[in-house]
Amino acid sequence: MPARFTAFHQYSGFHETVPPLLVAPYRGKGLVKLINVRSFNIQSDLRFNRSDLTVKDVTAEADKSVLEYAQEFPATLRDEYTATHIRHGLHGSALLSIEGKRLSYLADLNYVNGRIQAPLQVYTVPWRQVTISFRFVHYWNVDKEMKAGTTHDPSLAEKLVAFLNRYYLPAANVEFELKSALPINFSRFLGSPISEAQFMEFFIPQKDSAAEMTVFFAGEFRTSDNRYGASHFNAGCAIVSDHPIGEYLPPDTTWPSKSPTFEQSEAWIDQRVRAANLKPRTSSDRELHHTLAHEVGHLLGHAGHNRQDEHIMTETSLRNFKMDRPFIGMIHR
Ligand SMILES: [Zn+2]
Repeated sequence: MPARFTAFHQYSGFHETVPPLLVAPYRGKGLVKLINVRSFNIQSDLRFNRSDLTVKDVTAEADKSVLEYAQEFPATLRDEYTATHIRHGLHGSALLSIEGKRLSYLADLNYVNGRIQAPLQVYTVPWRQVTISFRFVHYWNVDKEMKAGTTHDPSLAEKLVAFLNRYYLPAANVEFELKSALPINFSRFLGSPISEAQFMEFFIPQKDSAAEMTVFFAGEFRTSDNRYGASHFNAGCAIVSDHPIGEYLPPDTTWPSKSPTFEQSEAWIDQRVRAANLKPRTSSDRELHHTLAHEVGHLLGHAGHNRQDEHIMTETSLRNFKMDRPFIGMIHR
């Protein structure tokens, strides 16, 4: 097996592009694994410009908690990784911490050992903080009772912000801060599902002007082309259906210890999706997270969609949470 760079963890800022990309936070450190190396020495085996990057071999200091290097991991999750865990997973591999010295800069790093080469690009991005609010909408049913609308309540907001940080912080150095999470009541009949026109006319005027973004939940939501979420960039508003379905994602996973590797995810997709046997399945948190992360991606600055399978902003049917450098660059423009 040839040497190559791979993710330290599914959500650790590593992007499976060609060549692979690591997002390094400016004035912080990113982590990446170099696998299939028997002996390894930074000085002799890595080629990179020392004025662009600082690279350290974390494996060599495995007695210390490696988590001090993983600055972009949400604080509550750092405790779940121990040096022991890392050591067990690192036979024949090295764990590197990488610090970028030049802001918004793409640096090359190459592992070279004889004829074996493994490239990595390191993208050093600034930290961006985003304030976000959530609104939980109720409205009249046919009997003019305030019983229609979302089945979620404001306690969901904290969980969603935790998810957004787990996803966007290591991958793109964007950190979300929850501004407010409140119910809203409309004394009018809106029907179900809520349409994009109703979102624009009734909901957007109710946004939290103290936050950069407001996300609405109002029960079922559908656009005219059958999407489960919508966003309005200039207003800084998005709406997400209570239970988005119909998106083909790798299986639900528990973060962090039970997450599948990229290889496992891809094998699953090959089996279940590429076989074109697309069976309907029930909605899950993962669908909700995906739709939310996608709409937030629009509000962070990504207009329209691309056609890359598994990209967070794709319009193909093969959906996943992957990002690439143009998307991250757009977020930090
Ligand atoms: Zn979209």
